Amino acid sequence: MKRSEIKKLDKIWSEKVKEIGNYRCLKCGTTDKKLESAHIVGRGAYNTRWRLDNGLCLCFTCHQDYDQHRNHMESWVRDWIGEEKWNELQEAGRPCNAGKKYFYEDVKKELDENND
Ligand SMILES: [Zn+2]
Repeated sequence: MKRSEIKKLDKIWSEKVKEIGNYRCLKCGTTDKKLESAHIVGRGAYNTRWRLDNGLCLCFTCHQDYDQHRNHMESWVRDWIGEEKWNELQEAGRPCNAGKKYFYEDVKKELDENND
């Protein structure tokens, strides 16, 4: 995939995650701050990079907190999404599962199909 395509998908993913989160920070509940989309399994893992259930809508402040205090935030995220989903995402994002090739059109279609 071209870098420009990856960027485009990231943007679509990010917008969708915020939309699903009702434009409200999942952690502190604010709607006033700049909202961002955080990855649960880091975006280095392409298997989970564009999965909408791998995203959290967080305000700028909570996102920073999240990135800087991963260990501390982990228990909160696990509570939020549930142990089963957490384990499934971790498993899916493991490097040994990353052999698959991703194509822009496929991922975009998947993201588009999540339109309600
Ligand atoms: Zn927040």
